[in-house]
Amino acid sequence: MTESFALTCHDLSKSFGPVRAVESVSFRLESGRFLALLGPSGCGKTTVLRMIAGLERPDSGVIELAGRVVSDVRTAIPPDQRRVGLVFQDYALFPHLTVAENIGYGLARGADRPARVAALLDLVGLDGYEARYPRELSGGQQQRVALARALAPQPDLILLDEPFSNLDVALRTQVREDVQRIIRAAGVSAVLVTHDQDEAMSLADCIAVMFAGRIHQIGAPRALYEAPISRQVAQFLGDANLIPGTARGEVAETALGDIVLREVAHGPVEVLLRPEALELRSDGTGAQGHIQRTVYHGSHQSVWVTLTGGTPLKALAPADVEWRAGEQVRVRARGAARAYPV
Ligand code: ATP
Repeated sequence: MTESFALTCHDLSKSFGPVRAVESVSFRLESGRFLALLGPSGCGKTTVLRMIAGLERPDSGVIELAGRVVSDVRTAIPPDQRRVGLVFQDYALFPHLTVAENIGYGLARGADRPARVAALLDLVGLDGYEARYPRELSGGQQQRVALARALAPQPDLILLDEPFSNLDVALRTQVREDVQRIIRAAGVSAVLVTHDQDEAMSLADCIAVMFAGRIHQIGAPRALYEAPISRQVAQFLGDANLIPGTARGEVAETALGDIVLREVAHGPVEVLLRPEALELRSDGTGAQGHIQRTVYHGSHQSVWVTLTGGTPLKALAPADVEWRAGEQVRVRARGAARAYPV
C-alpha cells in the first residue's frame, strides 16, 4: 500500500459466462513508468484495462490507484473518480467540437481553462490547430488530440487501448514516438494494451505477456527477449529458433554442436537461438547446411537454412556478404542460450 506505485492489481479475475477472460492477474506499476500488456487477440488484456478504468467490475481481486483502493469486494469507485485518462484506437473525439473544445471537455470552466488547453496544445505539438474540427485532422493529429484530452484533467494514470492500430504503418512509428515523448513530458504513468510486440518493446519500460487470461512473464523488454521463461513467450517476442538437443549440465548437444546454456539443465530440451545469435560462414567450422531462401532488408538480411540433418533455422546476417538460395553454408551459434525441457 505504498504511494510509489501508480497502480497495483492483485489477483484479478473476470469471467463472461463460461469464458474465463482474466485469471489471477497481479502486477504493480511504479509511478512515472510505462507498462505494456502484450498478448494475442482474446487473451484478456482489454478486460484488464477496462477493470482498471472502472468500466468492468472484477469478479475478484483488488485494484489500487496511487495507493487508494478503487475496486475490491466492497468498493467500486466510478470511472470518473479514478483519476485515469483513456485513449482508444478510434480516438472517440467529439466531431462537433473543435480541437480546443475537445481538449478542454473534461476541465472545469474557469479562468485557468484556456491556459491549460494552450499548454496541452503545445505539449502535443498542435499549436495553431485549436479552431479545427476532428475531420480536418490526420489520424496522427486526431490521436494527439485524444491524448491531450485524456491528459487535460491531470490524471495519475493514462490507459491506452491499441491506440495506433488505426494508423497506417508509415505514420505509426512517428505517432508512437510522439505519444511516448508526450507521456514522458507529462510525467504520467501509463498502461498500453497491444498485440504488437514491436510496439510494446519500443514504448514500454516493462512488458507483461498474457496468454489465455494469465500473465506468463513480466519484465523489461530486454529481459523478456533474452530470457523468456517459456517457448510460448520466446515465440511471441520476436523470431525464435527452437533446436532439439540433450542437455548435460552446462552445455546442450544439438545439430549445431555443443551450445553453452545460461542455466544448468539435464535431459531432452529445446534450445532457444535468436536469428542474430547464428553466424553464417562459407567455410571453416560449424554445422553444415544449405540456404533455402534469403530476404534482403538493406541494413541486414534474413537467411533461412536447413542443416544437413534437416533442422530448419532462420539467421540474421550482415548485409555486406550476399547469400543466395541453394548455397552451402556453415552455421555457428554465438553466446549462451536458454533451454526449455521437453
Ligand atoms: P483483442 O486484442 O482482440 O481486443 P483482448 O486480449 O483484449 O483481445 P479481451 O477483449 O479482454 O481480449 O477478451 C478476453 C475474452 O473475453 C475473449 O474471449 C472475449 O471474447 C471475452 N469477452 C470480452 N468482453 C466480453 C463481454 N462483454 N461479453 C462476453 N465476452 C467477452
